[in-house]
Amino acid sequence: MTEHQIEAGSSVESQCKKCKTVTDHYVVVMVGEKISKVECKVCKARHAFVSPKAEPKVKKPAAPRPKKAALASTRQAQALAEQWEKMVSPCAKPLQYSMERTFGVGDVIEHPSFGLGYVLKAMKPCTVEIQFKDAIRNMRCGIFK
Ligand SMILES: [Zn+2]
Repeated sequence: MTEHQIEAGSSVESQCKKCKTVTDHYVVVMVGEKISKVECKVCKARHAFVSPKAEPKVKKPAAPRPKKAALASTRQAQALAEQWEKMVSPCAKPLQYSMERTFGVGDVIEHPSFGLGYVLKAMKPCTVEIQFKDAIRNMRCGIFK
């Protein structure tokens, strides 16, 4: 049976949230050629049509609990984000990032893709460690004098 032969009252298979499985349903509401609402023949619940081919959400395994290491890194990331906030928020005029420019430790820069950041460390010969909101990145810069 193709979809356009289905009409209100037809029997279709749909996933049922209550039954937590694919069951026979009556079509209740059609929107164009698409089944919108169905009624489960087993539990009589009316709900949106869910294709029996789709994986039911309830059957998906629960997201694994974050491991201790992940938690620690989350906390660390949070601490970094707080530190970042303290460093960049008082700065009204961040320096525009450029690979030719020389930066000093503590300078607040603005990067076109990473946003605001501040220089953590100057790493020779021409790299600075910049703390952005989400991560620390080694960025190219001008050669230090
Ligand atoms: Zn049901």
